[in-house]
Amino acid sequence: MKKGFFFIIGSMVMVGCSSASTEAPAVEPPVVSNETPAATNETEAVTNETWTDEYGSPMGMDFPLAQPEEFTFHYHARNTYAFNEDWPVFKEMQEITNISLKNTANPVGTNSVEQLLLQAVDRFPSDIYGGDNIASYFMQYGPEGGFLPLNDYWDNLPNFRAFLDDNPDVEAAITAWDGNIYHIPYIQSGGVARTYFMRTDWLDNLGLEVPTTVEELENVLIAFKYDDPNGNGINDEIPYFNDNWMEMMRLVNLWDARCYGMDSYVEKVIPTEDGSVYFAWSTPEFKVGLENLSRWYDMGLIDREIFTKGVASRVEYLPKDIGGMTHEWTPSTSAYNDGVNIDGFKFEVIAPPITATGNQWEEHSRLKVKPDGWAVTPNCSNPEAAFAYMDYIYSDYGRILSNYGVEGLSYDMVDGKPTFNDYVLNNDENVAVNIFLETYIGTQLKHGYWMDYEYEYQWTHEIGRAGVDLYTENDYSVIQMPPLPWNVEQKQVIDNRLPNINMYTNEMVQKWIIGDPSVIDAEWDMYLAELEKLGLSIVLDTYQEAYTSYLEKLEN
Ligand code: CA
Repeated sequence: MKKGFFFIIGSMVMVGCSSASTEAPAVEPPVVSNETPAATNETEAVTNETWTDEYGSPMGMDFPLAQPEEFTFHYHARNTYAFNEDWPVFKEMQEITNISLKNTANPVGTNSVEQLLLQAVDRFPSDIYGGDNIASYFMQYGPEGGFLPLNDYWDNLPNFRAFLDDNPDVEAAITAWDGNIYHIPYIQSGGVARTYFMRTDWLDNLGLEVPTTVEELENVLIAFKYDDPNGNGINDEIPYFNDNWMEMMRLVNLWDARCYGMDSYVEKVIPTEDGSVYFAWSTPEFKVGLENLSRWYDMGLIDREIFTKGVASRVEYLPKDIGGMTHEWTPSTSAYNDGVNIDGFKFEVIAPPITATGNQWEEHSRLKVKPDGWAVTPNCSNPEAAFAYMDYIYSDYGRILSNYGVEGLSYDMVDGKPTFNDYVLNNDENVAVNIFLETYIGTQLKHGYWMDYEYEYQWTHEIGRAGVDLYTENDYSVIQMPPLPWNVEQKQVIDNRLPNINMYTNEMVQKWIIGDPSVIDAEWDMYLAELEKLGLSIVLDTYQEAYTSYLEKLEN
């Protein structure tokens, strides 16, 4: 039987709210999935009743609850902030469900993972836990009784269950070694994330074309270095730069070598189409890439301060008119086209340069399943309601809430699509849209929700959008390592050995890039032997086990 109900949207106090953005968003796929509404079949009574909201989306419980319910919620994210009970999104959730969340995380904590692990000592006393980079702990402590398995509560999780049925890769990635699922993850959509950017107005100044091959790229970088593209008569240009030297390492892609398995600088193991895995930083191609990076560094084509600069390159080099090229996040980097006060400044997305062997790829990709999310503990007195609350975030309206916030406050409906308004786009805090939403509205949190890429596309500069379209249409993407379902022994091997291997490889490549390129060949065998001593084979065997079980789960 169906128990429909109607709720009133947004009786929120509106602060400085104004009409919709003047700039209509470019056309993209619809915001909310057009899945057919929940089945409303009137079949004979069964144990799981179907409740739906006013949009026809299923609900895991008959919301709003007759009696108000409060859950304690330990949420800490970005090593910075805790859950804020006043966020408009959660006031709206309270209207819908009659459930409120009470923060228990330390708002002045500076390490989100540490904040969670401190709770482990007390057996996770709060009702619900959430945050970023903690999913592996849900999968570790869940089987030990720290968190409740979702498997016992599917009746209360209709939206998330339907999502998993449509996304078996997600189910495989979040299933713990004991076969249970203990958390609802943060799911990203839209693959394009980092792209190559180049000062195309500098190309114009020098009468050069956009480089299409690695060979042409090298010549452009040499011209940026020596031909004074900024026209100030001083040899002050930095042809290639990155905010993070670990990101610069990805340039080995230009010599056919993989660098990272996924969107993480500590993931150097790469999966292949045949189901095997390998370590990227010890392949012959990686060595060739490294020799070329060392050569480019010697030639002054790569920022001399790349290893010491920290994360201040874009914000310094672009306004100073000295940075020529980078590989970075599309929304934030394309925003410099409006934020920099230089005549003719154009920092445009270029396609990945084609390698000498004809490869053209973009290694970086947005991770579909983030290691973020939330989970319920056995201390929760009403887990059915807690799971139903979390599940509602995956409903159609829940997706709008968790991506766009509250209608009339942070967005308006324009042509049937939630569209950010000036309150968000030109916010008084003068911060990036995603930061504003996360900090002041309570959307885009690192708990379990399903990102709608349109949210980001709406506020990405037109140059960034053109780049996203270019990379999407041509699909330069390559295979990514999913989050792996480590069991206890496997996780121990990785935790014990991988940090040393990563540290050693990082130290050696820095030394080699700064030093004479010929040293790499002389020291390569010693480097491989040292990696063996640090247990690289054992680590790779462990990865192979976990990746194979991931693939097996995927096939079932
Ligand atoms: Ca100059």
